[in-house]
Amino acid sequence: MIQFENVQKRFVSKDGPVNALDGVDLTIEKGQFAVIRGPSGCGKSTLLMTMAGTLGPTGGTVKIDGNDLYAMTGRKRNKIRAKYFGFVFQMFHLVPYLNVVENVVLAGPADGRKADKARARQLLEALGLSGRMGHRTGQLSSGEKQRVALARALFNEPPILIADEPTGNLDTENAAAVHEHLSKYHQQGGTVILVTHDSHTDVQADRELCMEKGKLI
Ligand code: ADP
Ligand code: MG
Repeated sequence: MIQFENVQKRFVSKDGPVNALDGVDLTIEKGQFAVIRGPSGCGKSTLLMTMAGTLGPTGGTVKIDGNDLYAMTGRKRNKIRAKYFGFVFQMFHLVPYLNVVENVVLAGPADGRKADKARARQLLEALGLSGRMGHRTGQLSSGEKQRVALARALFNEPPILIADEPTGNLDTENAAAVHEHLSKYHQQGGTVILVTHDSHTDVQADRELCMEKGKLI
């Protein structure tokens, strides 16, 4: 369903050019759980952004279900992103002065329907946050914040979940909880792409990929 063909991303700054992606070929099938590992700066986040339609490559093609992401209009690309992807980041990116439920319903729905707070509460409950619904997210622990971010990512029932070092700011126990929720989503048919610079993350993935200097090795 996701297909990279010889994808290049070259950044040019005053420090000189960087080949953040250097000829990436990759196919991720629907329902797969793929882990991508590699040291800081090897191009992992660039790969994810390119995959989700938020960063155009300087060469090659990226296709989602056969649709060439960067051959279409920006408007169509935005629609595809909203339909296909949920995101979780290392730094959570919650709105600190909104409460937990409000943060989750912020995610959508993308088609203009009224956001369903009951559905947000259901998701939050399943993530073990029943006692935290009315808290502002600025008052939560890191582990709780990341579970709110997961609820937000899942709110629109995306077929693909992209997680960019989601456990980078968590202790072992909270990291394990996040991995467990990713696995649950995967068992329900979701596609997961998890990026980590951790070489010993205990996740049950279908596939392990390693990245080095812009290449999958
Ligand atoms: P990772 O997520 O694996 O840590 P990134 O994908 O963030 O790596 O970055 C890959 C490389 O591209 C790094 O060397 C980084 O400095 C560089 N890079 C990322 N974004 C930009 C940018 N907007 N301009 C210039 N260089 C960038
Ligand atoms: Mg990164």
